[in-house]
Amino acid sequence: MKKYHVWTEGCQMNVADSQRVGSALEHLGYTFTGRAEEADVIVLNTCVVRQSAEDKATGRLYSLRPLKDRNPGLVINLMGCLVGVRGGEKLRARFPFVDVFSPPSDPGPLVSFLTQGETQALEAAETARRFAMMDGELQLPEPERGKLVAAHIPVVYGCSHACTFCIIPYRRGVERSRPVGEIVAEARALVAQGVREVTLLGQIVDRYGRDVPDGPSLAGLLRVLDQVEGLDRIRFLTSHPNYFTDELMDAVASLPKVMPHIEIPIQAGADGVLEAMRRGYTQADYRRIVEKIRARVPGCSIATDIIVGFPGEGEAQFQQTYQVLSDLKLDVAHLARYSPRPGTVAERRMPDDVPEEEKMQRFRLLEELQEGIVGEINARYLGQAVEVLFEEKVKGRWKGRTPTNKLVFVESEADLRGRILPVSVTWTGPWSMQAVLSPTSLRQGEKGAG
Ligand code: SF4
Repeated sequence: MKKYHVWTEGCQMNVADSQRVGSALEHLGYTFTGRAEEADVIVLNTCVVRQSAEDKATGRLYSLRPLKDRNPGLVINLMGCLVGVRGGEKLRARFPFVDVFSPPSDPGPLVSFLTQGETQALEAAETARRFAMMDGELQLPEPERGKLVAAHIPVVYGCSHACTFCIIPYRRGVERSRPVGEIVAEARALVAQGVREVTLLGQIVDRYGRDVPDGPSLAGLLRVLDQVEGLDRIRFLTSHPNYFTDELMDAVASLPKVMPHIEIPIQAGADGVLEAMRRGYTQADYRRIVEKIRARVPGCSIATDIIVGFPGEGEAQFQQTYQVLSDLKLDVAHLARYSPRPGTVAERRMPDDVPEEEKMQRFRLLEELQEGIVGEINARYLGQAVEVLFEEKVKGRWKGRTPTNKLVFVESEADLRGRILPVSVTWTGPWSMQAVLSPTSLRQGEKGAG
């Protein structure tokens, strides 16, 4: 029995891509192994959003070379952002021991490589399987089947926005939306394998359907997915302040399965910095959209992304970021220190003029501010009853999430995987909460699940 091993770095989009590769390989008869040393095929799914991620991927790649030397039949597949949409010609010269280079989201080159030289009948069967996969008969890779409670579904590939700091549009190409039917079929296939929550992915997910004449909207897609039997929760990310429509807010507010949690980055608080980033909105626009979400979707949690130390960010500009975060009191702030990505507009045209110590200092100030804010928000959950979808047991405690995406831990000997149960919150901190199941919640959960 031939074996495959997948190593994944980066965002949820890459995690979803790796699942698709695993699925394709299992259709070809391979089984999963957690040990690279015993694999016949090794897939490295890479991320280059930060230099450190790229360094990690190349380090991992070099560490595989001795395996290839020992076993020349081993197939090494480099995939993802490092390869990018333009193909792997340059990388081929740098890594001659790699057999296959695949752009993000495409198991095709690996499947073609592995089926090369086999009979035409096998090729035809594989083509049929690949079409079946695209028709939604997606099989989760064996280690996740029946265990995965929450899965990701890419709905828009690529990005056409071109923020000056970002490498994604160069690596993943222009925005392309998947057809509604394909996404719904994939959701159904995941549900059939035990998945109860899906997160729809796109670099600007709110732009879903805009690249297609008379295309569907994200709100329309959510309405269709809300009808999928057996699917209990739907999330989507990442949103953009310019494309978060009233229609979408109403869909979040009215559709029972769409969870009240929005990931909508601001990136910086100063208008000059936002303009240099080419984000396309002002701080005031962002404040307005947050206000509107809160008015239309009461109780909705909101997450943001912030980059500190972008070129031209002086102390005054940073203070504006600090102020906006302090005023808006968002549930999550994903913080990053700016580092130039080779090939981006910012790297070519804007000097990286904020010293590293200053970036670190700003990062820590925001981190401290946000920790206080989230601590206060989460403290409001104390003693409250909330519904939690349980995913897995971690170090003896069941881990799950509330509709607002808060992490909750519960101690229980029962098998809670994939169950949505009411719990009572007994402790809260900035990063997670603890809760107990009420004596009746297991019975209630059974009824709810039916
Ligand atoms: S919206 Fe901007 S930051 Fe997001 S992927 Fe597109 S270019 Fe990158």
